[in-house]
Amino acid sequence: MKKEYDYVIVGSGLFGSVFAHEAKKAGKKCLVIDKRNHVGGNIYCENIEGINVHKYGAHIFHTNDKTLWNYVNQFVEFNNFTNSPLSLSKGKLYNLPFNMNTFYQLWGTKTPKEAKAKIEEQISRYVVEKPQNLEEQALSLVGKDIYDNFIKEYTEKQWGRKATELPSFIIKRIPIRFTFDNNYFNDTYQGIPIGGYNKLIEGLLDGIEVLTNIDYFTDRQKFNQLSEKIVYSGKIDEYFDYKLGVLEYRSLLFENEILEIENFQGNAVVNYNDSVYDFTRIIEHKHFEFGKQKKTVITKEYPQEWGHGKEAFYPINDLKNQSLFNEYKKLALKEKNVIFGGRLAEYKYYDMHQVIALALTKTKKEFK
Ligand code: UDP
Repeated sequence: MKKEYDYVIVGSGLFGSVFAHEAKKAGKKCLVIDKRNHVGGNIYCENIEGINVHKYGAHIFHTNDKTLWNYVNQFVEFNNFTNSPLSLSKGKLYNLPFNMNTFYQLWGTKTPKEAKAKIEEQISRYVVEKPQNLEEQALSLVGKDIYDNFIKEYTEKQWGRKATELPSFIIKRIPIRFTFDNNYFNDTYQGIPIGGYNKLIEGLLDGIEVLTNIDYFTDRQKFNQLSEKIVYSGKIDEYFDYKLGVLEYRSLLFENEILEIENFQGNAVVNYNDSVYDFTRIIEHKHFEFGKQKKTVITKEYPQEWGHGKEAFYPINDLKNQSLFNEYKKLALKEKNVIFGGRLAEYKYYDMHQVIALALTKTKKEFK
């Protein structure tokens, strides 16, 4: 007998919402459930004082893929926000990512030739054939001054682990360039949805049945029986009742403040490198949408170890966790009527555009 739904989609973040949208287009009937009291996963924004506050951390959309850019823009127009964070290090502000402005501020080098020579001199002391960890990677890419000023303390706060115990790929996310260009991303397309990210999710989920405040695990039998297939975007270890062990994540605590001033820091993102600050960055949300409100809302971001009851934000992709994930993945491959996807189900440090691309690939395969 045909079941009530073709798909029950667990989690209404980007993966689940894109899947639902594409499934509906293919004529499938979906039910999306989310344990939170709202949809959107971590891109959800809360309106405070007329400002879209990125409740689960700053999200800046960027991609090189025009098709993806057009895909998101069909639901909501994106503005031309460019992420140009600053880093406060030992009492001084510097531009990020590492570019000619940073090098000038740090060393006084004025030309690419001077800056390259300086970096060459710095990295020549750390010739590592194949960097084994984040520290080795950073030292061999940018040398000791940049590592000490902008990376080591920030990274160790962010991950709660020594930089020598972290995978090297994390630091490769940050560009290095020899132009005076403070754009944090190398991608061609970048921006924030005009009116906030909730519009993107509302567009994706338009016309689809959604239930919030529903935890799949409290009634999984029922949901499994309701649908032909489950699309699961939650934590993979939780799906298997943690039977092989618990995967580690990094969590974050967000401390919001409403300030009776128009402009607190003049920029959306300021990173606080030094370990004297327990937080890693302060986000001033109005700047994402060039807000002119009388007040401003800022958020200090305190990294924490993940534990039950906390949000799992960043997978810890070290060897130990990665091999545990690989074991879970083997189990996942045996689940015939379940599609796993997203940052938590794949235990991968995905950006938004990557999650959307992945959901589109999976749906193409599913509905071909
Ligand atoms: N990072 C750093 N200093 C900075 C910013 C980032 O050392 O000022 C390192 C840190 O380890 C971080 C990684 O680079 O986890 C990736 O940074 P990104 O800004 O991409 O992190 P996200 O915004 O995803 O938290």
